Amino acid sequence: KTHLVWLRNDLRLNDNPALYAACQDPDARVIALYIATPGQWQQHDVSGRQLSFIRDSLQHLSEDLSGLGIPLLFAACDDFTQSVEQLSGICHRYEVTQVFYNYQYELNEHRRDQRAEQKLAEEDIVSQGFHDGTLVPPGSVLTGKGTMYNVYTPFSKALVKALLHELPECYPAPDKRAHPADIQANDIPSLSEQSRDYDRECFPPGHRAALQRLRKFSQQGAEEYHRLRDFPEHAGTSVLSPYLATGQISARQCLLRILHDHPEALSGGNAFSWLNEIFWREFYIHLLVAYPALCRHQPFTDWTANVRWRKDDEQLRAWQQGKTGFPVVDAAMRQLNETGWMHNRLRMIVASFLVKDLLIDWREGERYFMSQLLDGSLAANNGGWQWAASTGTDAAPYFRIFNPQLQGERFDPAGNFIRRWIPELSAVPDKAIHDPVNWAKKHGKTLDYPAQIVDHKQARQTTLQAYEAARKHN
Ligand code: FAD
Repeated sequence: KTHLVWLRNDLRLNDNPALYAACQDPDARVIALYIATPGQWQQHDVSGRQLSFIRDSLQHLSEDLSGLGIPLLFAACDDFTQSVEQLSGICHRYEVTQVFYNYQYELNEHRRDQRAEQKLAEEDIVSQGFHDGTLVPPGSVLTGKGTMYNVYTPFSKALVKALLHELPECYPAPDKRAHPADIQANDIPSLSEQSRDYDRECFPPGHRAALQRLRKFSQQGAEEYHRLRDFPEHAGTSVLSPYLATGQISARQCLLRILHDHPEALSGGNAFSWLNEIFWREFYIHLLVAYPALCRHQPFTDWTANVRWRKDDEQLRAWQQGKTGFPVVDAAMRQLNETGWMHNRLRMIVASFLVKDLLIDWREGERYFMSQLLDGSLAANNGGWQWAASTGTDAAPYFRIFNPQLQGERFDPAGNFIRRWIPELSAVPDKAIHDPVNWAKKHGKTLDYPAQIVDHKQARQTTLQAYEAARKHN
C-alpha cells in the first residue's frame, strides 16, 4: 500500500488532518507531494514574496518529513488543470493506492479538487479530503433557517456557542514510519519566476517558527492585545497572518494554545479580543463557501455594482507608491511595499482612502494588496476590501468615510510610525506630522514630500453622491 499526501495550504507537521490520516496504517508506505502552479498563481495575483515564503517553509517541512521516513516530492506545471494530470502521473509512477489532502475552499481550488477526485476514481485510486483551514467546517455554523449568517456578530456568537459545546481537536504530528519509503526527496526549487525575496528575520519560515511565535504571543501579547492592537507603532498584534495564510499554523492550534494559557478566553476574558480576529477570519472563509461569487470579485451588496468608479492611473500609482500627501496612508503603503505586511488599522485606512477619497474601484486595491502581501488570502483580503468599500456583508455603511488625517492623529498621535517609514518627515514636529506640507509652508521649510493629492472634504461629497446615485439606479 502506498499513501500519498497532497500538500497545498497546510505546510505543517502538527494538526495536519490529511497527513495524520495517511499515517494511520503502520504498514503503508507514505509519500508527500507538492505541485507548484506558477501560471495559476499569477492569475490569482499571489505575491512573489509569499511564493518564496512557501518555498522556504516547504524546505523545512521536507527535512522534517524525511526524518519520519516520508519523502516530499516536488513537481511543477502551469495551472490547476495540469496539476491534476501531474498528480495522476505520480500516482501511477509510485503505485499509489490512496490520496489524502486537506480541502481548499476557494472556487478554483475547489473545482480542481473535484476534477482530481473524479480522475483518481476513474483510475481506481481512493481519495479522501479533510476539513482543515478553519476551526469548524464551513457550512456548519448556520442561522435557524439553515442559511449562512450575513452579519458577523450573530455568526461569532453561534460559533462561540458551538466551540463551548465542543472544542475542535488538534492532530499530533505523525510518528516515524516503521517502513520508510525508499524514495529520494526532491530539493525544493524556486516556485516561480515571480518569486521575490522577503525578510527572513521578521518572518522566519516554517511550522516550528510559527508555533514559537504563537506561544510567545499567547503568553506575552494576548492579554494586552485589546489595548494595543489599534496603534501601529506598537508591536501589539501577533503577526501570525503569513503563517495562517499559508497553513504553516492552523486556526485550531491558535484557539487551543490561547485556551491553554487563558482558559477564560472564550467566555470573554482579555484574550477574547484576539480570538475574535480568528473568528473574523473564520467568518470570511465560511462566506466564501456560501457565496462563491465572492471568489469572482463580485460585490456582496448588489447595488454597489452600479457605483461609477473613477479611472485615474496617476492617483492609483500615487496610492500604491505611498505618495498621496497623507502621511499615515503613505507610511502604511511603504510598509506594505517594503515588507509585505501591514497593520490592520492601516489596511482599513488605506483601503478607505483608495475607495472613498479617490473613488477608485476596490478591486484595484484588492489586486494590489494580493500582489504585495506575504499574508495574501482571498477570503480575508476580499472581506477586508469589501468591508472598507461598503460593498460587502456587514460592511461599514457607505456614508461612513474615514478622514485620513484624523485617523492618523488618532492612531499615530506622535507620528512615530510615520517617521519610521517616511524619513523625509523626520524633522517635522509631532503636532504638524499629519499635515506636514502646510507646516513647511508656514515656516518657510522645504520638504521632499508631496502635497495632498485630494481635498478630503470635496472627495467625500463626490463619493457620497456616487454611492447615492448607484443606490437609486438600482
Ligand atoms: P492579529 O491582530 O494578531 O490577528 C490574528 C489573526 O486573525 C491574523 O493573523 C489573521 O489570520 C486573522 N485576522 C485578523 N484580523 C482579521 C480580519 N479583519 N479579517 C480576517 N482575518 C483577520 N488578512 C490576511 O490574513 N490576509 C489578507 O490578505 C488580508 N487583507 C486585508 C485587506 C484589508 C483591506 C483589510 C482591512 C484587512 C485585511 N486582512 C487580511 C485582515 C488583517 O488586516 C490581517 O489579518 C492582520 O492585520 C494580520 O496581522 P496579525 O497577524 O498581527 O493579526
